[in-house]
Amino acid sequence: MTVIKPDSPYVECRREECPNKFQKAVHNQSFCSKECCRIYTNARILAQYHQKKNKVLKGRVCRDSSCSTLLSRYNPEDYCAVHEKKRHLDKLRGWGWKLDESGEIIS
Ligand SMILES: [Zn+2]
Ligand SMILES: [Zn+2]
Repeated sequence: MTVIKPDSPYVECRREECPNKFQKAVHNQSFCSKECCRIYTNARILAQYHQKKNKVLKGRVCRDSSCSTLLSRYNPEDYCAVHEKKRHLDKLRGWGWKLDESGEIIS
């Protein structure tokens, strides 16, 4: 029996989740299928997007125009603690609550 040698070796698909091995049809082929190429490219674009977003998060300041407090990157809000509280109180006041500056209900 004659074993026909493939003229190019089997290589693993570049997409890590993909178990397929394939023979390269063109020398720079990295994926077993167009679908794998598409999934891999999309995932990479998404990763770059999140990287950019994290960079933006690092240098954020409080959105209150009078305030230049640097926000912690772990703070998901757009305002510093002081103005976040102020906004919260303003919202409650908008609902008809009577509150003083420290958030105590005025009776
Ligand atoms: Zn694949
Ligand atoms: Zn602030």
